Amino acid sequence: MSKFDFAPMPDNEGFFGNYGGQIIPPELKQVMDEIDRAYEEIRQTEEFQNELMQLFQDYVGRPSPIYHAKRLSDKLGGAQIYLKREDLNHTGAHKINHCLGEALLAKFMGKTKVIAETGAGQHGVALATACALVGIPCEIHMGQVDIEKEHPNVTKMKILGCKLVPVTRGTATLKDAVDSAFEEYLKDPVNYIYAIGSVVGPHPFPKMVRDFQSIIGREARQQFQDKHNTLPDYITACVGGGSNAMGLFTAFLEDDSVNIVGIEPSGKGLETSEHSATLTLGKPGEIHGMKCYVLETEDGEPMPVHSIASGLDYPGVGPQHSYLKDLGRVEYQSVTDEECLNAFMTLSQVEGIIPALESSHAVAWAMRAAQEMDKDTTILVNLSGRGDKDADYVADKLDL
Ligand SMILES: *Cc1c(COP(=O)(O)O)cnc(C)c1O
Repeated sequence: MSKFDFAPMPDNEGFFGNYGGQIIPPELKQVMDEIDRAYEEIRQTEEFQNELMQLFQDYVGRPSPIYHAKRLSDKLGGAQIYLKREDLNHTGAHKINHCLGEALLAKFMGKTKVIAETGAGQHGVALATACALVGIPCEIHMGQVDIEKEHPNVTKMKILGCKLVPVTRGTATLKDAVDSAFEEYLKDPVNYIYAIGSVVGPHPFPKMVRDFQSIIGREARQQFQDKHNTLPDYITACVGGGSNAMGLFTAFLEDDSVNIVGIEPSGKGLETSEHSATLTLGKPGEIHGMKCYVLETEDGEPMPVHSIASGLDYPGVGPQHSYLKDLGRVEYQSVTDEECLNAFMTLSQVEGIIPALESSHAVAWAMRAAQEMDKDTTILVNLSGRGDKDADYVADKLDL
């Protein structure tokens, strides 16, 4: 028996302890409840499960391997570092796992269009991919400023056949794209579905996205057990909204011997205002239809956040992470932009694996922690994505 009780999570109202729920207008609550009902019914069916598992295997390339980063471990002289290779998935990151789940659910529910916003374009590309595969129209809203910054992803979305809607209002960035996408969704929420890109937003999204991502931890637990006859001493993952982390953590929550560490971006330093360390420095609040830890300014507005990894700069965080922090089951620590860059270069040059800047945060923590541990200790890192998208930026930044 575990000393932690994780029985049905979340509860029927979508709460993880005090976090989560549905902080939304009543009309929208009805729509969300209908999605939850349909999801709970559809996910039990053999048809849905078989189709999703088949796609995970033949299309995504699952199971993703666990790789012993021996040269990196030897160089650090401490704990053994293992990588769960989500970077090897089709499209190069973990996001395809929940996008396929959401697109397939949309198809089973008979929806006619999938709508979403995207910031850096990672969620947009993964969703456009999944919708092309499943054969359902897809509409992505993106701020004009982000469109100009993120050329490769914009091009990919166009090639994949989704409708890209440029958003020019306000600051023409992610926040405005969310508003714009939401307005489109509200025009016909019965026939459209909004596909959220992490374990955030109103119930049932934190639950659904977690469930679709939890394949990562189920595989990793079995793979590690098969090879080592025991479980890893530490598991770790970067936390933006928190989907790749919940994906890995879920299978291990009741394993008391496994220490779980989530890594947030401390950007230019926790003492500056340029970070995105929501669980480390935020307070319980509300954002995007849910209760969770939030980084807010003094007048209660979401704080402008910063991270070198655009996938991690979010002023809120998944409600389940908020709960796991209060419970003490997961420890949340942070890594700076500088440590992230160092890990990015080190993993590239010692192992020949170029990690995403997001994933480099988890690698950086493992590198820091491993040095203080003995050689028998094991750390499993979720390598959430590959760094091709970041290569030019890093080369520029480091003057390579
Ligand atoms: C989007 C992204 C993240 C951050 O999202 P989470 O929901 O926190 O997992 C992390 N890693 C990669 C590679 C990403 O693309």
